[in-house]
Amino acid sequence: MSIKEWDRVWVGADIATMVAGSEPYGKLKNAALAVKGERIAWIGPAAEARRRAAAEDIPLEDCAGRWMTPGLIDCHTHLVYGGDRVEEFEKRLCGVSYEEIARAGGGIQSTVNATRTMDSASLSGTAAVRARRLMSEGVTTIEVKSGYGLELATERRMLEAARALERELPVSVRTTYLGLHALPNEFRERRRHFVAQASGPWLEELAAAHLVDAVDAFCENIAFSLAETEQFLRAARNLGLPAHLHAGQLSDMGAAELAAQYGALSADHLEYLSEHGARALGAACTVAVLLPGAYFTLRQSTPPPVPLLREAGVPMAVATDCNPGTSPCTSLLLMLNMACTLFGLTPEEALCGATRHAARALGLQDEIGTLAVGKRADFALWDIGRPAELCYALGANPCRGVVYRGRPRTPGGVAPR
Ligand SMILES: [Zn+2]
Repeated sequence: MSIKEWDRVWVGADIATMVAGSEPYGKLKNAALAVKGERIAWIGPAAEARRRAAAEDIPLEDCAGRWMTPGLIDCHTHLVYGGDRVEEFEKRLCGVSYEEIARAGGGIQSTVNATRTMDSASLSGTAAVRARRLMSEGVTTIEVKSGYGLELATERRMLEAARALERELPVSVRTTYLGLHALPNEFRERRRHFVAQASGPWLEELAAAHLVDAVDAFCENIAFSLAETEQFLRAARNLGLPAHLHAGQLSDMGAAELAAQYGALSADHLEYLSEHGARALGAACTVAVLLPGAYFTLRQSTPPPVPLLREAGVPMAVATDCNPGTSPCTSLLLMLNMACTLFGLTPEEALCGATRHAARALGLQDEIGTLAVGKRADFALWDIGRPAELCYALGANPCRGVVYRGRPRTPGGVAPR
């Protein structure tokens, strides 16, 4: 008896493969997808798959006409942190000013304090709750940043907690050392020393411990300068680590150009971006990661220049930016809607932003992000009439099944219709 080429086949789905081409969404009607091990072994017409499954006695899952998409990818999160900022949120809406809140120890420093005092098990436990919410909407890959430790020991625990998520949950995690996020209080008078530590021994030790898939910095006038950011990016490049960059969220300092100059995987936020910056990103194939949750929470009024990004050929991704301060959001589907309604993306661009282009933003375009033979078998099944419905609905979750690395994540596979 020969070894079977398929372990299992999902039949009778309309598939949005998200493969670039002439068909919107890379659409295949009444199709099937077969899996071998962790990989996609075959994609083709449902009738052919049924015949072959019957002849070769291959387990078959009936998708009952549902839509199938690649597993969604949240390519920008700060999922691991201590505490929350609910009290601050309430105070602000009851009339307390930002300054008073900051003086009372609120803001990012309060998250830093809460993260530093939280043990590793609680850090990964609270992050797992948020990860599960993302996963319930078909997310199979999550990027997780450090950056609330701002000291070696806590940065390490944050990255370890992120790695633990992947061991404990059926989800793929990419870790990012956000070395330059904010200047901690104890370094207030020693700014250069902090940047040197974060770019030097801390980065080296975390990278040597295999905790760093990429690095990130917050390049902004309230955070770190172009020169400081460049020092950090140069150190990462010397270690062969790819970069992301928080760029152009509140002002245009030329951070997009810097990201492009260092061949960053992504430049994120980009509400403030010049034509020159957009062209630089396009030439460097750096992905623009759009974060409508933060834009919404901060009640900003200047959206990222989407027409400029299109014209410059910059791939656009969409992510939650899940963080306790400016985007306490665990719904990537809601972000797809906001990317359309607030930023003017088409539904196809938005869905591409949580699949194909999000994969590219993590350097994983050969592995995930589209449904094609040889790629990892990460996909979701949806009760929707057409793909645009994933962007259209507010607060709905039509996800009816997720397959991660070739295996149904929920027992029993596809939910009955
Ligand atoms: Zn962020």
